[in-house]
Formats: sequence, structure tokens, C-alpha cells
Amino acid sequence: MKYRSTRDSSVSITSSEAITKGISADGGLFVPEKIPSLTLDDINALVSESYINRAKNILGRFLTDFTAKELDSCVTGAYGERFSDKKIAPVVEIKDGMNILELFKGPTCAFKDMALQILPRLLTVASNKVAHGTKIVILVATSGDTGKAALEGFRDVENTQILVFYPSDGVSPMQKLQMCTQEGENVAVSAIRGNFDDAQTGVKQIFTDDSIIAKLAENNMAFSSANSINWGRLAPQIVYYISAYCDLIEQGKINCGDKINITVPTGNFGNILAAYYAKEMGLPVNKLICASNSNSVLTDFLTTGTYDRNRKFYTTISPSMDILISSNLERLLYSVAGTKKVKEWMQNLKNTGKYTVDADTFAKISEVFEAGFCDDDATKATIAKTFRENNYLCDTHTAVAVTVYESYRERTGDSTPTVIASTASPFKFCRAVLEAVEGKASNLDEFDMVGRLAEITGAECPAPLANLRDKQVRFTGCCEKENMAGVVFDMLGI
Ligand SMILES: *Cc1c(COP(=O)(O)O)cnc(C)c1O
Repeated sequence: MKYRSTRDSSVSITSSEAITKGISADGGLFVPEKIPSLTLDDINALVSESYINRAKNILGRFLTDFTAKELDSCVTGAYGERFSDKKIAPVVEIKDGMNILELFKGPTCAFKDMALQILPRLLTVASNKVAHGTKIVILVATSGDTGKAALEGFRDVENTQILVFYPSDGVSPMQKLQMCTQEGENVAVSAIRGNFDDAQTGVKQIFTDDSIIAKLAENNMAFSSANSINWGRLAPQIVYYISAYCDLIEQGKINCGDKINITVPTGNFGNILAAYYAKEMGLPVNKLICASNSNSVLTDFLTTGTYDRNRKFYTTISPSMDILISSNLERLLYSVAGTKKVKEWMQNLKNTGKYTVDADTFAKISEVFEAGFCDDDATKATIAKTFRENNYLCDTHTAVAVTVYESYRERTGDSTPTVIASTASPFKFCRAVLEAVEGKASNLDEFDMVGRLAEITGAECPAPLANLRDKQVRFTGCCEKENMAGVVFDMLGI
């Protein structure tokens, strides 16, 4: 199967090339030329299989230039003992028809592990095919979660090096500690004096600096990207929706062929897009419900057809969804409306910060997608209520999804069994969760808050977070934003 660019229909490349390149030269994103199909028989055959076998089966339909042996080693390496739950992505019913898909059992306790544990492996295999022997250098600018998940994913993966820059005052104490204690021979972390935008701009400049690229090439190295527009991050996310459906059959909650709803707390539109692809493959899905926090740009788009990023930016207690440009939406638009229109809308977005889709496109999107948003107060109220009534502790991002789902259900009366993607451990966003449950502000330090949350809820803090306290800090460096390239050269020893 070949891959095309959302902005240029003449592009036709293999999945290895798509994963190695990350983004198309025309600025578009890579998409499969045709979504492979999944029959009810195919689904039935996966019900008794492990997550690893489900993943091999589904990914094999998309990554057709990977051999079965290559896929096997990528999948087995990714979804093994680094996950704290044998089911990898377990499904838990918390009340009638409301099933939580727990995507935070990986080493950094956030859903980004589901993709970033496998991407480095896919990338090394792909790069061996298309750029033989070149060492892959990953640079990440992070405001917290992505940096840590990428470090864990790439650590000690052969023929790769990873360097993460974070803004010195722009990450939480827990996130900083998670990164600065990172283990592995091929990793490095540096603070920069500046904010997240400075880090991001610095990384982009290094990526596109011809003299730096040439210097890497002389040393048989090349930059690659681990960000969420890479097809190698999206494809693994399709797997867990199909896996969740299989689990619901296995648990006797649905029969094969019954429709489900899927609700996803959304930022860059990657996670919910994966659910859309699962539906396009043939997974029986009624509605995809897109949940946002106060940065409700997607709710507005999905209810009016106009995307407008010219708006106030809110800093919320669900920070991984504080996004005004949802890059992966471009793939949905391509799927519904094609290259020509996508190019026009993306040009409008670049020039004016907004675009409006035509009535036909809007109708097609509305058939599948529902949307809603909630603010921090509603998010906290849901955390408290879900814990009180269902004895289930959810994190802030998941609580946004639960809130939006419940109001959808109330508004429509639609009682189709629902899968809600849960994207982080509650202990990762401990302050907000603790304050929600206790109903008052907390003045404890990070680790005391973790202890307190465990004590009053009876929930267990995941080991990777609990163990941080005793981990040795390895990275203490902080550079000026003008000196980021120097830090890169130092790390690479060139
Ligand atoms: C990244 C992230 C999201 C948003 O996912 P998208 O794929 O960007 O929509 C939601 N919750 C958490 C905890 C995240 O880390």
C-alpha cells in the first residue's frame, strides 16, 4: 500500500518513507491511499488474541512494506514488560454502558506511550530500508508530557540519539524530575532559558539549518521527528480502539456487529482521528464524540463548520489539550473533501487563522462527529462525582471526556455503549485531582500530594511516578536559546 500527501496527489511513497520523512515536502501530511478493510469475521478472530497479536494484525494492514518478522519485533518490543498491565490497554466499565479505555499503563503514565513506545522501533526498521545505516537524531521541544514519553520510547534503541529541550520555568516539578532522571545511553535533556515557544522555534531552526544538516550528514546522521503528525505515531493508535471493541465482546457487553460510541479528550486531533480510521476500516461505530477543554476551537468547528484560531488561549488543568491548531484535523478533511479543498483551507488558515468548509463536507463530518467542551470547574466537579458515585478516580483530561459524554447522553438520550479514552494516570496531574476530590486548595509539595491522594482514595500511585523520588538526577544543564545547536553537537560528539 502506498501513501499520499494531503496536499499533493502525485506523491506516492511506502510506509517506511512516510515514517522516516514525517511530513511531506509540500507541508501536507502522509495518508494511506486507501483505508484497509476489517470485516466482522476479522474482528471475531481477534477477540481471543493478545494485544500484541491484535497489533501485529492491524498494523500489518497499513505497514505493508514491513515484513512479518520486522513487525513482530517492533510490536513485541514495544508492548511488553514496560507496561504495568498485561492487557496493555485494559477496558473498565465504571457504570452502565460507560467503559473507560485505560491508555496510561505505559512507562510515563500517559497515553503518548501507546505510540511512542513503538515509533522508535518502526523508525529504525524504516530507516534501515530507505536510508541504510544512518543514525537517527531526534530533537524534541516539549512543554512536558511528549518529551518524557519520547525519551522513554527512544532510550537505548539502536542507532538513535534523542535530545529534549524544555523551558526552564515552563514544566511542572514532577515533569521536570521525570525528564532529568531519564535513564539510557543515547538520551540527553537540557533546559533552555525561555518559554515553550523559544524551545520550539530553536528546534525548528536547527532542523532546517542547511549547515547543521550537512554536518550531521558528514557523520552519517540525520534528523527525524517524533511529533504527532508522523504516521508511525498514528497507526499504532488505531489498534487500541479495535482492541477495546474485542474486549467488550469478550466481556459479554456487546455482540460482534453492535455499534459503540467513542469519546476522546482531544488536543491535536490525533487520538480521535485514529478512532475515525478504525471506523473507516469497518469497526462498528455510531458516533465519535470529540471533547475539548476551554480551548474549544474543535467544538466550534464540529458544530459550525468554521475553524477559527483567532481566540483567547486558556491555560487549563488539562494542559495537554491546550492547543489552538489541531494539526491532524487536516487528515480528516482530506478523507472527506480531497486534496484541492484541503490546500485551499490550509492556505486560509495560514493567512487569516480561519477557514469554513463547504456544506457537503460539513454534512459528512456531522454524520460521524459530535462535540462538546467544559471548563476547569466542570472538570473538577466530574472528578469528584465520578470518584464519589462510581469509585473511579480519573485524571483531568479523562474527566473532560466524561463530562462531555454525559451531557451528550443527556441531550440525545443515546444509550449506545460507549468507550471513553482515558489518557493519563490521575497521579500525573496530582494537584488538580487532589483538589477536586478534597474540594479545597492544597499546600503540600508534589510527593506529599501523591501520598495524600493515594491515602484518601485508596488508589495506587503507579511505580514510575512513585519511584521518582529516589532516582538520581542526571541532567542539570540549562542553555541560552542561542546556544541550542552547540548542545546538540556536544551530545552527538561532532
Ligand atoms: C496528548 C494528550 C491528549 C491529546 O491527544 P491528541 O492526540 O493531541 O488529541 C490528551 N490527553 C493527554 C493526557 C495527552 O497527553
